[in-house]
Amino acid sequence: MKAAILYEVNKPLVVEDGVTVDSPGKGEVKVKVAFTAVCHSDLHFFTGDIPSPLPGLAGHETAGYVDEIGEGVTKVKKGDTVIIGTVTSGCGQCYYCKIGKPHYCVERIAFGRPKHKNAKGQPLTLMAGPVGGFAEYTTVPQELVTPIPKNMPLDKACLLACGVTSGFGAVVNRARVPAMSSVVVVGTGGVGLNSIQGAVFSGAYPVIAVDVLDSKLKTAKEFGATHTVNLKKEKDPVKAVQDMTNGRGADYVFVTVGSVDAIRTGFSMSGVMGMTVVIGLAQGNLKDFTPLEFIFNEKTLTGAGGGSIRSSIDIPFLASLYQAGRLKLDELITAYYPLERINEAVDSLKKGEALRNIITFEK
Ligand SMILES: [Zn+2]
Ligand SMILES: [Zn+2]
Repeated sequence: MKAAILYEVNKPLVVEDGVTVDSPGKGEVKVKVAFTAVCHSDLHFFTGDIPSPLPGLAGHETAGYVDEIGEGVTKVKKGDTVIIGTVTSGCGQCYYCKIGKPHYCVERIAFGRPKHKNAKGQPLTLMAGPVGGFAEYTTVPQELVTPIPKNMPLDKACLLACGVTSGFGAVVNRARVPAMSSVVVVGTGGVGLNSIQGAVFSGAYPVIAVDVLDSKLKTAKEFGATHTVNLKKEKDPVKAVQDMTNGRGADYVFVTVGSVDAIRTGFSMSGVMGMTVVIGLAQGNLKDFTPLEFIFNEKTLTGAGGGSIRSSIDIPFLASLYQAGRLKLDELITAYYPLERINEAVDSLKKGEALRNIITFEK
């Protein structure tokens, strides 16, 4: 089979034939990949921002067909349509599973266990999650697989594996934004637009989109933002948010940009008792936070990994929202590329030209 392999950071991926993958062992599922979207988390590995042993195989927003199941697999059967993401559905037995937080399951799947080998027989490190979606076939633990209805288009479904759930889930699952709260979303790319969708779904107002590009802010409005702030053009962006929230600052702020400066700016946009949720993978340390901001304003700074989702509940729910016309997915897709042209898809995402580019495996 073919796969797109990273041999050297900041070099194009090599699309190679003759790649192999292990047959599914106990509790594992082999999937014939149909579509995998390219995510910013993949780019962090391609550029070396997040170091990883090489050669490596990325891709974690994947949808496809169950090809083979291993011993003891009960969740799916051959031919089922599934998505594969990075968030485990949990063991169902541990403390976190029992309190409804399966994304913290103590049995969380070890990241990066190699199952693929290149044509020379070298093992490929799984990067940006244990999925291996940039290959024609992959084998994963059944906890990472979520069955979806047959009539859900797989090119849309793959977006529910990471980008949509990370943004939407941070609002709905992590922050549990109550109706009539004010929300700011910093960064309105492929994840931020889904935080905006989550805020609208939760009944928030105003929903303030913050970005540096007018074109992105325009898209944010199409996804339901009621107000916009251009960080580059607005003289005092924090004051602008306060003016939009009766002088109080926002009740909830979601920072989807992977930057510590953006986290600081976002936190300043929150008001008394405001909660700031960090979603974007930022490198570096946070600084310049004063204890007084926390003590006398009771502000919260927290995070949400993978949208804090309960994958077996939330992914099918989001699929049904899409099918009911209440969740935008088509509008998130910029372009489709066959695996052979994956480097074009990656470059366009790097340049900020794309929301989601999708690699197609179906002929
Ligand atoms: Zn992702
Ligand atoms: Zn568990």
